[in-house]
Amino acid sequence: MSKKKPDNTMNKIVSLCKRRGYVFQSSEIYGGLDSCYDYGPLGVELKKNVKEFWWKHMVQMRDNIVGLDSSILMHPRIWEASGHVAGFVDPLVDCKTCKGRFRADQLESSVCPNKPSKMVSECGGELTDVRQFNLMFKTQMGPVEEGATAVYLRPETAQGIYVNYPNVLQSSRQKIPFGIAQIGKAFRNEITPKNFIFRMREFEQMEMQFFVKPGTDTEWFEYWKEQRINWYDELGIRKENLRFHQHGETELAHYAAAAFDVEYKFPFGWQELEGIHNRTDFDLKRHQECSTKDLQYFDDVTREKFVPYIVETSAGCDRTLLTCLVDAYEEEELEKDTRTVLRLSPRIAPLKAGIFPLVKRDGMPELARKITDDLKQHMMVFYDEAGAVGRRYRRQDEAGTPFCVTVDSESLENNTVTVRDRDTMVQERINADGLLAYLRERVE
Ligand code: ATP
Repeated sequence: MSKKKPDNTMNKIVSLCKRRGYVFQSSEIYGGLDSCYDYGPLGVELKKNVKEFWWKHMVQMRDNIVGLDSSILMHPRIWEASGHVAGFVDPLVDCKTCKGRFRADQLESSVCPNKPSKMVSECGGELTDVRQFNLMFKTQMGPVEEGATAVYLRPETAQGIYVNYPNVLQSSRQKIPFGIAQIGKAFRNEITPKNFIFRMREFEQMEMQFFVKPGTDTEWFEYWKEQRINWYDELGIRKENLRFHQHGETELAHYAAAAFDVEYKFPFGWQELEGIHNRTDFDLKRHQECSTKDLQYFDDVTREKFVPYIVETSAGCDRTLLTCLVDAYEEEELEKDTRTVLRLSPRIAPLKAGIFPLVKRDGMPELARKITDDLKQHMMVFYDEAGAVGRRYRRQDEAGTPFCVTVDSESLENNTVTVRDRDTMVQERINADGLLAYLRERVE
């Protein structure tokens, strides 16, 4: 058996996502809406599992991090204070020849719509001067358009955490150092969204803001770097496809004293998965100034008052999901044919097991259904009796389901079933009474 990663991986993943119900183009029957995507039956499970795994690591297993779910629409002054109104911009150019619109800093990697074999930097089209384009979506609040207040769809979830910091501090009785975690939608009017769900205009972030005493920020920054890269490892992502990228002086965001990205080796190159930033006291000081509320922390042991520094870990949920799919995708050459298999970690796989009667008679469907109903109380499983059992295995291989349980004539005699492992394709016969424990041990 030999294994290979095909070159055309992204196209194959996009079509697998549609075929198996992971991700669909948004508004497809109307021609689609650029850079917006919908998660199908398997996609929604995978996304839920990724988020739960993040939440478990960042909140559930720690005493000093608590959760929050702040609203998407917030007071517009928040975005003035944060610097987004003035500074959340990308440089934009238009091509006078093809009328395309591009990010001025990505001309080398943007394909010319008129000459798809050339990049915009080399196609010869005449470009306008660079303009700064704000990425925030603006809308209005209130029934009458003229008198309504302009509000923004949040471009990051972090600000909802900063403005709630006094509420959380008081209600949860945390002491510094402590963190607030949040998973939620963010919106950016990206100039050139591309690469499927890698760059979307509506996406989900998993962010944690860690409040520390000034002077201890570098130490905590190092701690979180380590924690976060290890998390991807535990998620099942191959280590050799992960690395850090340190931001140089010119790359640093306006709020950051230090920044590292966790990057993944996508088929289209090394790209950011998550940002780990030392945001200093920039955000809280700005909110203190603009809201005129005292956001200092009082340390009742040392009797000191200070505005905390913040170390942020900001991950994209959709990018993580794409990473899981890319890293798991494989075409495996077998003796007679090739199979497509998604080697997702069982922990995050949407379906934990497929349950099949070998044939649709002799009481096998009834027993397989009973096993399915019992397992459903504990995990996502899928009953399938359609077609040859070999094809049913292959469908589950593509869907990333780690185990397939088959009920055959022997099952009716001695209450045993076969369990096939997705990765090795090896089958084991076990007693049906021990099936739940068997699957649990391997899935959890
Ligand atoms: P990029 O340089 O790729 O635009 P960024 O540095 O602007 O990303 P951050 O502001 O640090 O990204 O956001 C944190 C995380 O949110 C990113 O690491 C990414 O995983 C996710 N993210 C940001 N923008 C998008 C997007 N348009 N689509 C999907 N995920 C995104």
